[in-house]
Formats: sequence, structure tokens, C-alpha cells
Amino acid sequence: MKVRIQHELLTRLPKVDLHLHLDGSVKPATVLELAKEQGIGLSDTEIEKMEHLSQLDEPDAAGHEGRGSLDFALPFLQTSGALERAAYEAVEQASLHRCQYIEVRFAPQLHRHKGLSVDEIIQAVCRGLRQGETACGVKARAILICLRGHSYMMNAAVVEAAQRFMDQGVVAVDLAGEETACPTVQFRTLFTIAKRQGTPITIHVDGTAGTANIYEAVKELGAARIGHGGLLLEDARTLELVRELQIPLEMCPVSDRQTKTAPLPEAYSIKQLLDWGIPVTVNTDNTTMSGTNITKEYLRLADQCKLTTKEIARIILNGVNAAFLEENEKLSLKERFLRDFKREGLLLPNTW
Ligand SMILES: [Zn+2]
Repeated sequence: MKVRIQHELLTRLPKVDLHLHLDGSVKPATVLELAKEQGIGLSDTEIEKMEHLSQLDEPDAAGHEGRGSLDFALPFLQTSGALERAAYEAVEQASLHRCQYIEVRFAPQLHRHKGLSVDEIIQAVCRGLRQGETACGVKARAILICLRGHSYMMNAAVVEAAQRFMDQGVVAVDLAGEETACPTVQFRTLFTIAKRQGTPITIHVDGTAGTANIYEAVKELGAARIGHGGLLLEDARTLELVRELQIPLEMCPVSDRQTKTAPLPEAYSIKQLLDWGIPVTVNTDNTTMSGTNITKEYLRLADQCKLTTKEIARIILNGVNAAFLEENEKLSLKERFLRDFKREGLLLPNTW
């Protein structure tokens, strides 16, 4: 009975999603429609895969192929119309789960196969996000991803574009991709541009190449947030740095578990990280590829980690505090969340 009440409450509570990949979150039905519209034939296997994804409910369901399979929607996201639609639908899907704020990330350089420029790509996504905001009442912003496997020139073009679009919906830059072959240390010069521009930085470090990449991202690249950040508990020096600077972790429990980025379960304890005073946030990563949504993330956490409602509220507010929004916008978002929490009978410390 108590569990059911908590589940109902979690469904109702307002939430944020700070780590959401555009290409990994396109609805399978949309991919099929885009393929048809664009005259791209799909093989039976691909159609089957789309159908499988559309029914994916259990996060550990067989068939998940890890983050490497993220490019499933990329061939269809090469036109302004398709990008705008995908961005709009990302907001629409988030609104179904009482998300009040989302940050949608994408790598502009991956959408240029049909001749779109980096600027045209960013414009299309920002347009879709704005339409979603108006239609669904969810605040939505964009994060531009640089890729570890891309050249300095390609990534520099993305970082520079971020500055041009800061007043049109872009709020930060990110670095993603294979960590073992391209460690974080290689990107110091690139992120110097972002720091000079004053563009906020978040860096993907899922731990596959060790926690040194987290330390480097925070200490040298100026990351204000860390994407994923599993394994942090394994390394006292990095844990202390992240705690001291209060760097939020954008954790994605369902996806992190699927991709096994934390081989030792004890190194991925959200409860322990919270107890250590780390500003943990919870996000979806790729709603389609991982068969997840933000409500499911919290429900599973509550069940598996035995988090109290108060701890869940703490995580949600960590997300609001970590948002790459202007201070005044963040403050009004936070006030709205606190009002809703109070209405739900959640008595939170004044210091929150
Ligand atoms: Zn990610």
C-alpha cells in the first residue's frame, strides 16, 4: 500500500531531465514515418527493430545494444523538418511525465550528411524546442555535443556555434564518445574556447576508461556537470573534488545499467553518493534506445535503492539547481517545484 502511494506520488511530482539525447529518443513510429517521407527503404530487420523498440518496457530487455546503437535514427535526421519534429516530440514526450524542464543534446556534426550547415541544424532543433515549449508548457533548452572521435576543427565549429546561439536556446556544450581511445586530457585546448566564451560545459564520463577522466574534466576542462559519472565512489580523490566543488552528476540509471558502465554495483550507489553530499541528478539518456522515461527512472530507483520520498525530492531539486538556465529563470522554476512539493505534503528543509 505504502509503495503504491509512493509510486502515485512519483508520477505526479514535477521533474526535470538534463541528459536526453535527441537521436536516441526519437519515437520509433516517427522514424518509420520519416523513412517513408524521405523515401528511405527500411529492411524487415530494421522495421522489426523499430517495432521492438516501441514495445520495449523492461529496461533490461534483450535486444539492447548499448550506446553504440544510437545512430539508429541518424539517417532520418538529416533535414531541418525532421530535426524540428524530433525536437518538438522530445518536449511532447517529456510533458507526459510531468517534466517541467529539459535539456536536449545532439551533435550537430552528425546531421550534415545532406548538406545542412551546423547553424541550420541548430536553428531547426531550437525551433522545434520552442514550439514544444509553447504547445506543452515545458521549458526546453539545447546542449551541443562535441565528439571525442572528431577533429579539432569540427569540434571547434560546434563550440563557437554555441556562443552564437546562446540567446536562441543553446545553453551549454558537451563532449561525448569513446573514452579509452580519446581521453579527456586531449580536449583541453578545445574547451579553453568554451571557457573563454563563458559557455557552460558538461562532459560525458561514463567511467569506461576510469575515473581520471572525471578528475580531468572538472579540474582542467572546467566541467560544471558530469554526464553519468558512475564509478565515482571508487576514487577518493575525484570524489572529494566533485564534492568540494559541488559538481552535479547527470546519472541515467537505466541506461548506465544496460551499458554496464559501472561493473561494480557498489561503485554506483546513488544513495551513497547522496549521503556523501554529491548533487546527484537523475535523467533518461535515450528514452527510445533504453525503453525508459523519467517516471520509470524514479520508480525503479525508489524500488531498487529504497530511496525515501524525501531523497527523491532532493534529487529532483538537485536537477533544478543544476539546470543551465539563467539564475532568475532557475529561481522561478525552483519556486514552482517547491510549491508543488508542498502541495503534495512534502515538508522539506528551508535550506533546500
Ligand atoms: Zn549521454
